[in-house]
Amino acid sequence: MLARLLTLGVACLVVLLPAATDAVTTDAPGGSPQPAGRAASRSAARVETPVPAAARPLAGRTVVLDPGHQLGNARHPREIDRLVQAGPSRKPCNTTGTSTDSGYPEATLTWQVAMVARRDLQQAGARVVLTRSSNSASAWGPCVDARGRLGGRVHADLTVSIHGDGSYARGARGFHVIAPASVRGWTDDIAAPSRRLALSLRSALGRARFPRANYIAGGDGLDVRSDLGTLNLSDVPVAMVELGNMRNATEARGMRSKQGRARYAHALTDGITRYLAAR
Ligand SMILES: [Zn+2]
Repeated sequence: MLARLLTLGVACLVVLLPAATDAVTTDAPGGSPQPAGRAASRSAARVETPVPAAARPLAGRTVVLDPGHQLGNARHPREIDRLVQAGPSRKPCNTTGTSTDSGYPEATLTWQVAMVARRDLQQAGARVVLTRSSNSASAWGPCVDARGRLGGRVHADLTVSIHGDGSYARGARGFHVIAPASVRGWTDDIAAPSRRLALSLRSALGRARFPRANYIAGGDGLDVRSDLGTLNLSDVPVAMVELGNMRNATEARGMRSKQGRARYAHALTDGITRYLAAR
């Protein structure tokens, strides 16, 4: 188990140590990973030693994770088509999201990636708040305005919205990160730190060897939009990640596998951790 985790090259790993050590290794700045065996033997000899701050780099931080869509949205067209405030304009409450060609839904992908990322972040000391509490075929929403506003409501340090894209363009693949444009009265107060968050997430996904989207203008893995309620309604730094193109067979294979989803989640944790460390 541990050996398999270590091969993933992840941002945060739980090491199977005596409970008192509560050890998490990290590759965040200032926290150099340690061989688990040596750390275990040292810690076992000094069980009263406080956990070093570097082991819980996100202590005191609050992170909102927004797993995009909801599994039951398609069964509730009237509710999710209702217009809500999405910034300067109004937009539908939510959408059904996309899926792989084999029918693996975006709502389930985003939920499962968020579950792993939540565990990573909690192990690093963060408080994690989700915008939805289930992935259920009978549930719908929440609407994009509520998703966007949650970060401010819970006094979060940041929000990361998790999505998968659904492009039918031939050969379209790769991830991209969306930062909010600066829209006066809406996002002008969070646009700059949100861009830094988006760049940190882009770097982390790159370090995890995910390719940048080849079908988004610029090809640099970064998009800036003014039309997304989840971003426009946020009062804390926010970025949306399109993990990849669910309609691409190669990327769909990774998304359907537990190991592939863990790679995405660990990369998000890495990007969040480094963004917060630099603030
Ligand atoms: Zn989506």
